[in-house]
Amino acid sequence: MYSKDDPIEPPQGSFQLKNQIWDLEILLKIQHFLWKAVSGALSTFVQMCSRGININPICQRCCLEEETINHVLFLCLHAFATWRCSGLPLHGIQSTDLEQNIAELFNMLHRRNIPSSISKLSFWLIWYILKSRNEFLLAQRNVHPMEDVKRAMDRNEEWNNTFVSARVNVVRQVRNSKWEPPPVGWLKCNFDSSFRREDKIGGIGWIVRDEKGHFLKAGMVIQENVTSPLQAEALAFLFALQQIWINGWRRVWFEGGSSELARIINTVVQDHACLGNILYDIRHWMSKLTSCSLDSVNRERNMDADVLSKRIVGVNDNVVVYNSPPLWLVYYLYWPYTT
Ligand SMILES: [Zn+2]
Repeated sequence: MYSKDDPIEPPQGSFQLKNQIWDLEILLKIQHFLWKAVSGALSTFVQMCSRGININPICQRCCLEEETINHVLFLCLHAFATWRCSGLPLHGIQSTDLEQNIAELFNMLHRRNIPSSISKLSFWLIWYILKSRNEFLLAQRNVHPMEDVKRAMDRNEEWNNTFVSARVNVVRQVRNSKWEPPPVGWLKCNFDSSFRREDKIGGIGWIVRDEKGHFLKAGMVIQENVTSPLQAEALAFLFALQQIWINGWRRVWFEGGSSELARIINTVVQDHACLGNILYDIRHWMSKLTSCSLDSVNRERNMDADVLSKRIVGVNDNVVVYNSPPLWLVYYLYWPYTT
């Protein structure tokens, strides 16, 4: 039982380091693992002993030191060999302080002499060092350090190809007609707009789904005094960005229906006569979401957002939000999975 007089212990681990971990663009499971390591929440032999479990605290791999998490990841002979085989210029990772070693991995992200393609390799390495320790203990399999390096390099390259390229400043016009879920740990927000020239009315539709394609939220809204289809599309993106922010989502892959808007956003055009201040607002909201990217896709892949943006123009409400999909949307939602 807690009483109000009990001192409140601050959680273990540097607050700043934990923030860096959650800001890192990498697989969610690696972020979790790093967070647990810093928070002292990973099980090692030493930890089990401190919980009263009768077990030898010595590292079974090198049999030289107690198996702390810092030992497993940095100081054990196997870990040391893996870091060396990687060829990464890491000089400060032999500290007896776990946080200092992990902070050094983050320092490497910002070093000028390290190509961005390998600046995150260390995080894959540390992940595979832990995995091979588990393989050694659970499956009695002794992974060679070079094999760990190879696994980490492959995953790092795969990661660069699938994700980081999505943030490169080129517009990828995707021809495929099937909606595709975002990568693990990300959400996808599809948005679209409609435009009625005669009364300058714009309709906006947006829908958010997770990596498994599960529906999270959708909505539609009317905008007045819209001057062009491009402006309607920019307003739709701005509205979608704000909805994402309000809902607390931070890693989002946006897909809209206009390749022109995607080109303007992704080529860092500063001024645009037709978009004016909307562009500044969009940049502001994008800067708040540190992990977001915008692609343009064909209408088939954006069908549900397209339908939402048209439907709002014909109903009496100006703003509608759905926490579960209305029946009429379901057909489009799973399209083309239903056919
Ligand atoms: Zn060891």
